[in-house]
Amino acid sequence: MNHFINQKQIDATSECDSDLLDPALMQGLQDQFCDANNVYCVCLSVTKGVVTKAYGSRQELDYIHEKAGMNRHVVLMKKLLYSDVEDVIEEDLDDPNMKMCGIVIRLGGQIVALWVAIGVIENEGEYIEGKPDCVKTTTLGQFYRSMEFLAYLSKQFFATKLDEMIAQEAFSKSRESQQKIEAELKRNEVMTSIVQMLESENGFSKIVEDILADVCEYLQIGNAALFRLGNNGKTADIISEWCLEARGSYIGRCQERPIEEFPFMTGKPYILSAGVPVPERFRDFCGDWGIRAAITLPVEFNDRVAMYLVFFETELERVWSMNDIRFVKEVKQIVQSILNKRIAKNSLASSYASLEAILENVGCGIHVKDEKQGMVLYSNQQFKKMLADEDIEKCLDSQDEWRMQRYLETGFFEYYSKEDERYYDICQTTINWVDGRLVKLFTLYDVTDIKTYQQKIERQANNDFLTGLYNRMRCEKDIQECIETAREHDGQGALLFVDLDDFKHVNDVLGHQYGDMLLKAISNSFQKIPELQDQCYRMGGDEFILVVRDDQYEQLEKIIEEVRAVFAKPWFLKGTEYYCTMSMGVARFPGDGEEVQDLLKKVDIAMYDAKKAGKNGVAYYDQSMELSTVKAVDLEQHMRFATSNACAEFEVYYQPVVDITLDGDPCSGAEALVRWNSSSMGMISPAEFIPMAEYLGLINPIGRFVMEEACRHCKYWNDMGHPEYHVNVNLSVVQLLRNDIVDSIREVIEMTEIDPKNLTLEVTESLAINDITRMKKILGDLKQLGVKLALDDFGTGYSSLNHIRELPIDIIKIDRCFIIDIGKDDYSEVFVKMVSELAETIGVRICVEGVEEKEQLEKLRSMKVQYIQGYYYGRPMRAADFDAAYL
Ligand code: C2E
Ligand code: CA
Ligand code: CA
Repeated sequence: MNHFINQKQIDATSECDSDLLDPALMQGLQDQFCDANNVYCVCLSVTKGVVTKAYGSRQELDYIHEKAGMNRHVVLMKKLLYSDVEDVIEEDLDDPNMKMCGIVIRLGGQIVALWVAIGVIENEGEYIEGKPDCVKTTTLGQFYRSMEFLAYLSKQFFATKLDEMIAQEAFSKSRESQQKIEAELKRNEVMTSIVQMLESENGFSKIVEDILADVCEYLQIGNAALFRLGNNGKTADIISEWCLEARGSYIGRCQERPIEEFPFMTGKPYILSAGVPVPERFRDFCGDWGIRAAITLPVEFNDRVAMYLVFFETELERVWSMNDIRFVKEVKQIVQSILNKRIAKNSLASSYASLEAILENVGCGIHVKDEKQGMVLYSNQQFKKMLADEDIEKCLDSQDEWRMQRYLETGFFEYYSKEDERYYDICQTTINWVDGRLVKLFTLYDVTDIKTYQQKIERQANNDFLTGLYNRMRCEKDIQECIETAREHDGQGALLFVDLDDFKHVNDVLGHQYGDMLLKAISNSFQKIPELQDQCYRMGGDEFILVVRDDQYEQLEKIIEEVRAVFAKPWFLKGTEYYCTMSMGVARFPGDGEEVQDLLKKVDIAMYDAKKAGKNGVAYYDQSMELSTVKAVDLEQHMRFATSNACAEFEVYYQPVVDITLDGDPCSGAEALVRWNSSSMGMISPAEFIPMAEYLGLINPIGRFVMEEACRHCKYWNDMGHPEYHVNVNLSVVQLLRNDIVDSIREVIEMTEIDPKNLTLEVTESLAINDITRMKKILGDLKQLGVKLALDDFGTGYSSLNHIRELPIDIIKIDRCFIIDIGKDDYSEVFVKMVSELAETIGVRICVEGVEEKEQLEKLRSMKVQYIQGYYYGRPMRAADFDAAYL
């Protein structure tokens, strides 16, 4: 998967390249890299020059500068900047012992910095004249490999960094818009509560007091007061006030004061923010009252200033925002209209007119209707823009049970206008109309922005971001619903739990990008199954839940087959076909359970059972499974204990391998098979604990123990008159993929002094074997030790003989399942015959496992099979028993 970055993101990131190029980090990276690779590097930024201090002591650097020439890196830098394809460029130097490379560091396609690296090349046996001892040298091959590694490292490192930054940015953006919407929401809430006070029956000063309290709480300020002018405008009193308890009241010190004391009483509004200089008369007044910030607004009645609204803060350094000011001005409008309404109580007309002026200006739609007479009394412009008068009936359709329910819960109706694609909340209250009759007041709020934002959040919360499938949260919710519908219909449904087999290896071997690609491709295929389109969930990692609804239950088998079919075809990754298998658990409701969590647990148990039965299978939940999984939990604890204790509870058994091409079918050696005799749980078969040990990583110490035991014992056989006996040791893929596997086996060979040709390592096919290049390398390295390699369980996986030809395999072990049916099933017989013939042509020997009966043996004799292993000749047995029988 490539990083897809658009121009915008590049712009965003190139500004921040200084963040990404943390000099200390780069320095550390550089110095460690140089130390490990014996080269000399420096990191240069395209815009800022030198990022790191060049690696090396003064003396080393002097030598290098002299030999390489001081300015060559400038030439190199230019070349790199003009090439937009190459990441590594070499600059020819005169001195044949000096090599110089430049490596670019790109961010979203743009070069932000580059490494200049110099290697002093000293070929074996060569001596460079005049070179101080402290100067490090390398070989040509090593130098180029280091350069490739540095290029790769830089690419990976900055790709990750960039991802982090983009994610960080997206996160803070969504935080911002959330805060904005929350603020908007809060503001509407306060406004609504204030508008409602228009209808309050309380006295004027009490109403204003309530309003002031709301405003102060919303704006988070300590004081607010309403001053009334008296004595023909010569004096002022506070008639309503609100203050934080801790701040104190001003009402007492402000009765009948001359208005000259109040510099803001000029008929104009004033906005005083903290820290902004003010005229002297304001400074004195603010000093006197302890005011740090204030907004003062004149309130008019009949075109004359009658009062002043004052909001102020005495403790905090408040700076007013545009929103604060707009909000306060709207509040003033409302106070003014209440005032007008009260004073002109007897004049219906004037009250109505001013009220109307206000209502035209509030942000919501308002509609008043006399339901008895079916008459619309009033609609403001806003309302008319939002809805046609008759539509209101539709919106309030109380026949709809669901909407009625929502209304009772929330106090408003939700309405979606398809034409405008907008969402509205509609409140409905009964009020006294101006002439006293009871009428309905509808208020309409446009909540589209909030709604779409909510939907976005919901989508984010419900979907898995990698695959686009629903996530665990949504899954649990949907299962709950399916269970309920099934219950109502007296039907049943099912959960399928799909877990990919060996997915960890895909990640380990191919890398996470390819793992992600595979998960996406699989998710896509799930969604293409018609019955499951909307019922696929990713539960995390490589686990999926598929839900079969009650109306689909009859097709359960068919759906399961469709899911299996998804895995029957290979996936195309990194230029090669990969097979991936899965294990599936099935749990049915209500049969197996009726609670979501219970069902999820049971379907997991069933999946685990499928896995245990050899992967790539399906298991239906049944109660007896529970017992064995309870054991699985204990298993982990006991196994950790058993391995920590020098593997004392483990013992190696040996099963004879017989050579049927020699007279008398003599024993040719044995396969080492581990046994666990747990002090607390008794004898446990490897089929049961090896998968768990692989999963927990404990296979490494256990495998090492078996390897040592088996080699030591084989050496004993070889010394005791059977120099030809060999021992087969099983290697798990987990062991095989460890970097130190070759060293570890070499160590055992040296320690036990076994002749390596008598050691056969058994490896299995797996998804990992599809990475043929890697597998070839590992197996090739193992072969170098002089050991033999056997491909175990052949026929159960996917590798073809074609591939095997490329691998250094000596022996193919044909799986037991082909032998069980031999003599009964033509296919098995033909398979073994064909494989053995093909094997002969490519020079590989065949071992057939699981031979229990004479007839099976006879059949095999006629084929080109060399080795036989099975109960017919001998079961796996203790070392002492083996020695007694075969030495
Ligand atoms: P495997 O490598 O295919 O080993 C052969 C299994 O088939 C053994 O089971 C053996 O007891 C069984 N077997 C042999 N002949 C017959 C026969 O005639 N009839 C029947 N029914 N079974 C036969 P076991 O010992 O239970 O081992 C099971 C698997 O556990 C092994 O399969 C191998 O994959 C794994 N395993 C065992 N020991 C080790 C070990 O030390 N390391 C690793 N990594 N895996 C091991
Ligand atoms: Ca084996
Ligand atoms: Ca086998």
